[in-house]
Amino acid sequence: MVSTSKTNLVPITVARGDGIGPEIMDATLKILDAAGAALAIEEIAIGEAVYKSGIKSGIEDSAWDSLRRTKVFLKSPITTPQGGGFKSLNVTVRKSLGLFANVRPCVSYAPYVETNHPTMDLVIVRENEEDLYGGIEYRHTQDVVESVKIISRPGSERIIRYAFEYARANGRKKVTCMSKDNIMKMADGLFHRTFDEIGAEYPDIEQNHMIIDIGSAKVAVQPHMFDVIVTENLYGDIISDIAAEVTGSVGLGGSSNVGTECAMFEAIHGSAPDIAGKGIANPSGLLLGAVMMLVHIGQKDIATRVHNAWLKTIEDGIHTGDIYRLGKSVEKVGTDGFSKAVIERIGATPDKLRAVDYGAPVIGAAGGMVLPPLKPRVTQDKKLVGVDVFVNIDQCDPNGLADRILALGVNDNGLAMESIANRGTKVWPDGQPETFCSDHWRLRFMSTSGIKHDAIMALLSKFDAANIDFIKVENLYNFDGKPGFTAAQGE
Ligand code: NAD
Repeated sequence: MVSTSKTNLVPITVARGDGIGPEIMDATLKILDAAGAALAIEEIAIGEAVYKSGIKSGIEDSAWDSLRRTKVFLKSPITTPQGGGFKSLNVTVRKSLGLFANVRPCVSYAPYVETNHPTMDLVIVRENEEDLYGGIEYRHTQDVVESVKIISRPGSERIIRYAFEYARANGRKKVTCMSKDNIMKMADGLFHRTFDEIGAEYPDIEQNHMIIDIGSAKVAVQPHMFDVIVTENLYGDIISDIAAEVTGSVGLGGSSNVGTECAMFEAIHGSAPDIAGKGIANPSGLLLGAVMMLVHIGQKDIATRVHNAWLKTIEDGIHTGDIYRLGKSVEKVGTDGFSKAVIERIGATPDKLRAVDYGAPVIGAAGGMVLPPLKPRVTQDKKLVGVDVFVNIDQCDPNGLADRILALGVNDNGLAMESIANRGTKVWPDGQPETFCSDHWRLRFMSTSGIKHDAIMALLSKFDAANIDFIKVENLYNFDGKPGFTAAQGE
């Protein structure tokens, strides 16, 4: 769709995806065209066919050229083949293009779309690059695997600042941070602390913190409590699906994935293979993702026209099967019929649902929000004070294990074994006999008089000489005198 009658065409990259992807993309592009969107479209192939051609990432190398050129990606859902070592394309694109913020508005359209929460109108801002989505996983022993959760100070600052700036720019009044810092005191503690620190720069915005478990429950039953929610990657993934479902249908949600350079816009649902090719899919999620794209590229007047025409269509009861309700809806339409109904209403605004106004087009200001630079890092004094050596030993008597390790002469070179833990619980000294022990043990050695790395190497060579399989080593540091590591449960 390159309309020659339009000027200032903005290049974007489009992928039609799998399943219902091509149908909903077709409907979306027709509506954008009819509304006057000035787009120069480059198409790329992603998804199932690419995976099956042997490319494990699901995206061809040449597609990256287009994405780097246009910096704007409108993407249909894809089908990720199960098994076979295929990587999630979404995670690859988000991380490769530095799309650190995932933004999902979740709005109720009652009484036109059935929901228990007619006044729900919240936005979830999810960190998109860190947390357990680093995919850093290891099998250490016969019984134990490990998944590594990474939370960084700059990553937390960026997403939290984005949430506050988003709230300001969109007239939102409150930002709620959700984390689990009562358990993950270091990782989630850092996220929460960063929220408090950055939040202090936004006194005009109400702010609070909730533990993610109760927060998710409240989103499900009292969503009107929330305005903007900012949270880590995994929590955001789960809570945004809950929130979308609470609005009435996953078929209605759009989302943006935003970075400092590039941005990707999509529906929140998947490729719905069960209804693919039937012409009945709801294109609304992708269309609302496209509306966010139009705002991002500065075509705000077109975004307003498309969004209001869509609201009017919903309000007029022209519904696809997923939201059609006998007695409430007026006409059941397929994908095509729905897009025609939206096109017929371009220029109209809804009577009952709240109309949107994204403001005037900002020529030359495309590219979304510009964030202030990261705060300068406050470098703290870092001192090596010990080491955790993880060993694989098929033995279930912690006291016997301690005797065996001490007999190696490990309390030497400024290090002394302080404790043994199994799956995070202290089992020596003074462990509880009831504690279940796996074949994965953590031996904690603390410095008696200050150590350097060579003390750790000397320690490890004792394990090596005794044929003890050390599977992982974690150095223990103090920062400005405070431990940069946690104690075991019971320690
Ligand atoms: P799904 O979202 O595709 O479907 C869940 C249910 O919702 C199905 O019954 C489906 O028919 C319905 N549905 C979804 N979108 C709809 C729409 N627009 N209109 C009407 N009904 C709709 O989730 P799934 O079945 O778990 O996943 C299917 C495939 O999609 C999987 O391969 C999964 O990996 C992939 N997926 C891709 C993305 C993405 O590309 N962003 C996201 C999620 C899932």
